Amino acid sequence: GKYESVGLVVGVTGIVGNSLAEILPLHDTPGGPWKVYGVSRRPLCSWSPSPVPAFEHIQCDISDPDDTLEKLAPLTDVTHIFYVSWAARPTEAENCAVNSAMLRNVLSVVLPNAPNLQHVCLQTGRKHYFGAFEFLGKEIPEPPFTEDMARLNSPNFYYDLEDILFDELSKRDGAVSWSVHRPTTIFGFSPYSLMNIIGTLCVYAAICKHEGSLLRWPGSRITWEGFSDISDADLIAEHQIWASVDPYAKNEAFNCSNGDVFKWKQLWQILAEQFGVDYAGYEGEENRVKLEDVMKGKEGVWEEIVAKYDLVPTKLDEVAAWWFADVVLGVEIEHLDSMNKSKEHGFLGFRNTVASFNSWIDKMKAYKIVP
Ligand code: NDP
Repeated sequence: GKYESVGLVVGVTGIVGNSLAEILPLHDTPGGPWKVYGVSRRPLCSWSPSPVPAFEHIQCDISDPDDTLEKLAPLTDVTHIFYVSWAARPTEAENCAVNSAMLRNVLSVVLPNAPNLQHVCLQTGRKHYFGAFEFLGKEIPEPPFTEDMARLNSPNFYYDLEDILFDELSKRDGAVSWSVHRPTTIFGFSPYSLMNIIGTLCVYAAICKHEGSLLRWPGSRITWEGFSDISDADLIAEHQIWASVDPYAKNEAFNCSNGDVFKWKQLWQILAEQFGVDYAGYEGEENRVKLEDVMKGKEGVWEEIVAKYDLVPTKLDEVAAWWFADVVLGVEIEHLDSMNKSKEHGFLGFRNTVASFNSWIDKMKAYKIVP
C-alpha cells in the first residue's frame, strides 16, 4: 500500500496526542510514511492539527463498549496503537475502574480486527513511582527512579493498565509487542488536556497581568530551589515512535524525560517576563498560596481577557487546572528519573527544558489561547 505504517492515536486532542498527530505524518518520521487515525470523544477544534490526507479524526467514546466497537472495529489496517488517554475520577479506586474499562474496550476491539497490528505504546507516568494522587509521595523508592523499581503497595491505575495490556496481548501469543512510557510532568500544547502545566501557568500569568497583581509562587521550597525534571510532549512522541519501530525497544517499560535538570525559580522568572508581570518567589510556609484558592471565581475575568484580546473562546476550567499546578509545584520531595535505560536501548533524544518552556508558551500565544 501507500503507507508503511498505520497509527491509531487514542487521545489525539490531548497533550501528547497533539504532538503525535503533528509528528507522525511528517515525511521523515521513522517507520513512515504513516497514516494516522486519531480518536477523541469531542470533535476537533480550531487549534487541533488539521486533518490532512494522512490524518483521519474519529470521534468515539472509548468508555462506551458499543461506540468503541462501532468506530474502531472497521480500522482493520492499524499497525500501531498509541494509547495517550485517560479519565480523571475523585478516588483511585474509581480511576482504576474507568481507565481499565477504556483501555480494555480499545484493545479488545482492535486486537481481533487488525491482523497487521505490530505494537502498542501505553503512556503512564511518574506516579508509577510516586503513587496515585490520593497517596502521592507516601512510600516512594529513593530517586532517581529507574524502571526496575518494584510497584508500590497502594492502588494505582497505571499498574492496572499495564496488566490489562499484558493480558490482552497474551491473546495474540507474542505477535504484538508493547512498550510502556513513563513521563514526568509534561510540557506540551492542548487546551483540552486534563493536566497541562504550561497552559495553567500561562493563564495564571495572564490573569495576574490583567489584574495588575504579583505572580506569586504557589509551591514548596524544595520545588522552588531543588532540581526538577520535565518531559517535553514532542520528545515523548519521538520516544513512542522510536519504541514502535526499533526491535531493541520491544516489550520494555521506559522512563521518558528531557535528560536535563532545572530549577523552577529559573522558569518562574521566564514566565513573568513572557507575560510582563512582577513575580514573587517562595515566601515561607506561612505565606504559601494555592492557585485553587487565589484563582477561585476568576471565570468572569477570563471571559474579559478572552474578549479583550480576541482569543480563541475557552472556558477557564478547560485551560487552567489549578489543582494540578498546586500538586506539581507543591511536592515536598526532590524527584528525578534516570534516562539510562532508554539510552542503553538506543534512544538518545533529549530537550533543553528552558527552551522547551519558552517554545510551548510561544505556541500558546501563537494559537491565541492566551494573550
Ligand atoms: P490528556 O488529558 O492531555 O488528553 C486525553 C485525551 O484522551 C484527549 O484527547 C481526550 O479527548 C481523550 N479522551 C479522554 N476520555 C476519552 C473517552 N472516553 N473517549 C475518547 N477519548 C477520550 O492526556 P495525557 O497525555 O495528559 O494523559 C495520558 C497519560 O499520561 C495519563 O495516564 C496521564 O496520567 C499521563 N501523564 C500525564 C502528564 C501530564 O502532565 N499531562 C504527566 C505524566 C503522565 P476528549 O477531551 O475529547 O475526551
